[in-house]
Amino acid sequence: MKLSLNLQILIAALLGVAGGWAVHGWPADSAAVQWSLYSANLIGTLFIDLLKMVMIPLVFCAIVTGIANLRQHSQMNAVWKTTLLFFATTTIIAIVIGLGATHIVQPGAGLHLDMFADAMQQFESKQLTLPEFFTQFLHSIFMNPFKALADGNIIAIVAFALVLGIALVMAADRYTQLLGLFEEGMTVCMQIINWIMRLAPFGIAALLFKLVATQDVGLFATLSKFILLVMGTTLLHGLVVLPALLYLLTGKRPLWFLRNAREALLTAFATSSSNATMPVTMRCTTQNMQVKPEIAGFVVPLGATVNMDGTALYEASAALFVAQLAGIDLSLGQQLVVCFTTMIAAMGAPGIPSAGMVTMVMVLQSVGLPAEAIAILLPVDRLLDTVRTAVNVEGDMIGSLVVQHVTASNSSS
Ligand code: ASP
Repeated sequence: MKLSLNLQILIAALLGVAGGWAVHGWPADSAAVQWSLYSANLIGTLFIDLLKMVMIPLVFCAIVTGIANLRQHSQMNAVWKTTLLFFATTTIIAIVIGLGATHIVQPGAGLHLDMFADAMQQFESKQLTLPEFFTQFLHSIFMNPFKALADGNIIAIVAFALVLGIALVMAADRYTQLLGLFEEGMTVCMQIINWIMRLAPFGIAALLFKLVATQDVGLFATLSKFILLVMGTTLLHGLVVLPALLYLLTGKRPLWFLRNAREALLTAFATSSSNATMPVTMRCTTQNMQVKPEIAGFVVPLGATVNMDGTALYEASAALFVAQLAGIDLSLGQQLVVCFTTMIAAMGAPGIPSAGMVTMVMVLQSVGLPAEAIAILLPVDRLLDTVRTAVNVEGDMIGSLVVQHVTASNSSS
């Protein structure tokens, strides 16, 4: 009997977690533990390297052809608007859930910032104010495309690909060969992704093995209430809110979605990187869910860059948690500032592991909270990053389905 790839990945993920857990019982310096960690690290990193290898050419070709084909079908306007509206709405819902739940549960009650003085002393980070962050963000959008491609700078690649896509269609039939080249580039990237995915069960098992085996379980006790709150609310958003929106807006059933999205969700969970997961996200949306490549080619790369519901929920919740630790009661106005900065911080966070922690400095500073408090959250971030990255990626896939449905029904009416 041959198991489907989907099932192989699921079994591999469970085996990885179980194996990592089992290793906790063995002496950490034993040769078997060291060797298994070394192998898991090697296999996991190779899997991520393979995904990253194909990610940049894929994003570039997908956006150029996506824009060009949408313009040809004069759908561009509707797609833009629906995509941005969907991204903004779901991000705001995520922030409201994060703030509301942290208010009610009060995970910081009984804890004080000075309990974490040691951790905070070691904190060093580049602290940017909101205007500085904004300027830096704007400056990173337009740059030499070759440098952006070589550096893997997704925002700049997306910007250049958008401009190039528009230029290609404005010139009507003049550049058909160039457009054809990008179209073929995208199909050949998808072929390479299909090969890489055969290795996904090994990569995902190895990454999860390493993650679980290297967690310091004792450390979680103090922050357990906060960790459970963030995990619980992120799952609420990912398993209830987003699937409900999908059902209401498109009529597609949540179980159908989860079955078809599983490869991307597990890859995001194991890699903690929306960027590295993007090839798999494209595969799931175009091949499993039958979203048109021109829609997925636009929504997925853009979403991986700016649409991060999990990160937004986490940053809002963490800001309020830190305020509780510092004994500060944030006024309604200050909470609105947190909402606004969290939106920008989540948009500006690149889709790489722990990126949300870096942009969170700005959220804390916007209402005068101590940025050093991030040091308290850093040790548990690898764990929280798993679920929030999966929800980030889920938002992009649901966004593609919604945009396809809404724009198709608009153009047929
Ligand atoms: N790891 C997340 C992602 O790649 C970003 C974050 O740190 O929140 O989507």
